[in-house]
Amino acid sequence: MTLSAVTPDFFSSTPVTQLKGVGAAQAEKLARLGIRTLQDVLFHLPFRYQDRTRLVPIGATREGSEVLIQGRVLMADVVIRKRRSLICRIEDGTGQIHLRFFHFSTSQKNHFQPGAIVRCYGEVRLTGMGKEMAHPEYRIMESADAPVEAALTAVYPATEGIQQPTLRKLSDQVLKLLGKAQAVAELLPVEAMHAAQWPSLVEALHYVHRPPADAPVQALLDGSHRAQQRLSLEELTAHHLSLLKLRQRAKAQTSVSLPSASPLEQQLLQGLPFKPTAAQQRVHEEICADLVQNHPMLRLVQGDVGAGKTLVSARAALLAIAAGYQVAMMAPTEILAEQHFHAFVEWFEPLGLRVAWLSGKLKGKKRNEQLALIESGTAHMVVGTHALFQEEVNYRNLALVIIDEQHRFGVHQRLALKQKGEATGVVPHQLIMTATPIPRTLAMSAYADLDTSIIDELPPGRTPVKTVVVESSRRHEVVARVRNACQEGRQVYWVCTLIEESEVLECQAAEDTADQLKKFLPEVRVGLVHGRLKPAEKADIMDQFKKAQIQVLVATTVIEVGVNVPNASVMIIENPERLGLAQLHQLRGRVGRGSTESFCLLMYQKPLSKLGRERLDIMRQTNDGFVIAEKDLHLRGPGEVLGTRQTGEMTFRIANLLRDEGLLEDSKDMAQVLLEKDPARGERLIARWLGNAAQYGEV
Ligand code: ADP
Ligand code: MG
Repeated sequence: MTLSAVTPDFFSSTPVTQLKGVGAAQAEKLARLGIRTLQDVLFHLPFRYQDRTRLVPIGATREGSEVLIQGRVLMADVVIRKRRSLICRIEDGTGQIHLRFFHFSTSQKNHFQPGAIVRCYGEVRLTGMGKEMAHPEYRIMESADAPVEAALTAVYPATEGIQQPTLRKLSDQVLKLLGKAQAVAELLPVEAMHAAQWPSLVEALHYVHRPPADAPVQALLDGSHRAQQRLSLEELTAHHLSLLKLRQRAKAQTSVSLPSASPLEQQLLQGLPFKPTAAQQRVHEEICADLVQNHPMLRLVQGDVGAGKTLVSARAALLAIAAGYQVAMMAPTEILAEQHFHAFVEWFEPLGLRVAWLSGKLKGKKRNEQLALIESGTAHMVVGTHALFQEEVNYRNLALVIIDEQHRFGVHQRLALKQKGEATGVVPHQLIMTATPIPRTLAMSAYADLDTSIIDELPPGRTPVKTVVVESSRRHEVVARVRNACQEGRQVYWVCTLIEESEVLECQAAEDTADQLKKFLPEVRVGLVHGRLKPAEKADIMDQFKKAQIQVLVATTVIEVGVNVPNASVMIIENPERLGLAQLHQLRGRVGRGSTESFCLLMYQKPLSKLGRERLDIMRQTNDGFVIAEKDLHLRGPGEVLGTRQTGEMTFRIANLLRDEGLLEDSKDMAQVLLEKDPARGERLIARWLGNAAQYGEV
């Protein structure tokens, strides 16, 4: 490669096969890591570093930390317990540690002669025999004073057949070229970068790949160094821009403009025993402003459990129906979809409208009947599960899709339903409702393709739920409390949570609990509902609970969403430590719907981890879904909290949403500038950071 060829664009246009040692087979493996060009090598960033710049005294090493240690061999021996392994004990005057090898050769054993000096790098674990390092990288030292590494060691994301040494050799080659070129295409808005005095891209890349000897180790290890932050900013901008483009494409499509008022809607409101809250009204107006546009609405409505999202969606539905179009509403579970179906039948049939029902479990003649209603347009509104977007479902003229996302849906399902309308020439408006409030950090990043509205007010007359955390050994006290509640005429939910991800076992646990409660509380009417009952059986039990014929409802997490029985004011949740905070919040939202004080008892199993304890404490301290979501995000990280979104969307090479929250505002601005002023450059930025992953926008 001649130096004259090294221009800023040289890196993005030169394939890796130009590098030394990269043949066709190697190139194929590298492609699996998204590495095709020299630019890809530059932006394949270390996701962490190893600190081999100092020797840690063995006595000072901590469990779980990765450290460089050095010691004198005390003994080495092959032992056979469960597996044959080579164990070598070393000491350095401050402590002792075992090195353990499961795969080893005789010559290896001979290295570890008593008195030899060993330097090794690995993770410290604690075992019954004390400190241990399994399969450390090690070297027998000639002298105890040999120098340590001058700089931190970069660790790259690797894959089968491509190990760290290979990645280091590749980046060495490309960094050398970068050193000569002293330029690589700057794709962020140049003025803003200068104004904020960010290091140059060349500097930043050199720094993160090969931190200098005097680099501030801690900053680099936790990712807060300016060089890393500069690259995070670029990556966040690329992600944000890709969402903006996704949104721009969606918005460019044509949809039907809907009027902002209809007699049907007035009729519905007049028939209700209550008035919409100010928050419901405000969100309704935000939706109306979208619906009059002849481009599709893409709106996310966030509202805590019980905030009254259903009414907001019903009002939007009536605007579409009044204009002669169909509306589909999808819910994530059968039981929630049923609940919505009943609500819509109750509200819409008096208005002379027809509501159809579709779920995966609906089969045969009944299914065909519903399909015919949908296809002919006889059904104004269709409620159901994901079955709504199966191929055989043909809508006559779908104009609005409502998705009660809770926290279970992914992007794929939404878009599939959207395409249902496209088939008939109309792109439907989309209204997505979520009861899991989305922390601001995530709303700004993962949901940047959507407009958001927040119903930040509960209907009047609700009393906050009191939450108590108890250990399961106090079960008899809890049962006594249930007895008291029933004597006072209250109703109780008793929720058995998922055991080892098995629906069968979960149902079993619920059955056992119901039997036990019947035995302990012979005077109380106990019912049981779980996911393995037939829909009709489930509906029957729920109906009896609504009519207070059942006092204690033992349930699996199927009741998590949507169920509304205001007289139920006590909830017991077994093994709450197994659930996410959002899910617990949802469950708890089933009580506190009437005017009497409600209780939620979280009955955990010992031992509870520190994290588990913190999470239950949060539930005890607040009823505010936003606070809970924010804390959950900090405790568990975005991947877990998002759950619903495709994981690929939120995996970053260098950015970390929590750590880099402070960069979000700038990345948003920069993405906007690129979108408006320099879309071609924006495309290159997306290609640089998201490569093929950017295609998720096309699903
Ligand atoms: P969520 O936001 O959790 O979906 P729902 O739509 O199920 O909440 O509403 C919860 C309950 O509150 C329902 O019984 C609903 O009829 C009632 N509700 C909705 N809006 C109001 C209001 N403005 N005033 C009083 N009750 C309301
Ligand atoms: Mg709801």
